[in-house]
Amino acid sequence: MEELSLDMTGLGQLLLKRDILYNKISSRERNGLIEFAIESGEEAGLKVLADGIDKDKPCAYIEKYCKINFLRHKAPLPIYSECLLKDGTINIYCSEIDNLYLKLSEEGYMVDRNRLYNIFLLHEFFHVLEERESGSVSSIRKIKVFKFLFWEIKRGISQLSEIAANSFLRTIIGGLPIKYICKEDL
Ligand SMILES: [Zn+2]
Repeated sequence: MEELSLDMTGLGQLLLKRDILYNKISSRERNGLIEFAIESGEEAGLKVLADGIDKDKPCAYIEKYCKINFLRHKAPLPIYSECLLKDGTINIYCSEIDNLYLKLSEEGYMVDRNRLYNIFLLHEFFHVLEERESGSVSSIRKIKVFKFLFWEIKRGISQLSEIAANSFLRTIIGGLPIKYICKEDL
């Protein structure tokens, strides 16, 4: 499988740019936020590795925390997977991932189907874990979006959770297939 050439910081910069609040974050703050998200993901990844997750067959470990649905029907949105925190459920849209698998194979990438599934599973699993442990990574570090006299409004950067989720799965299974990262939902 061809691996993504971006390092986690490069990927973090890419993801942060997609955040709706990106322009509110000063360039001075950006690197620190990305670093924080990467470290949060790494830390969580090392923890589950130490706790015995099988990186090739992570389902048994994940199912100790939540339910996994492998769905055959088309996803309601252009997504491959989702995490429903309220229900404690991860939905994996198999037909979407299988299509991605075929597309990547046709384009000449050496893709391991099992690993492709695990990328999505682990990504969503991180969101389950972050909520259970210390609250979402996005809500821990907030930025000031408005300030007037003593009144200020702070907001979380939702992409920090996405950066952390990718750092988490990379800590566990290594890099990502290069095309996968271009997809909108990452
Ligand atoms: Zn996510």
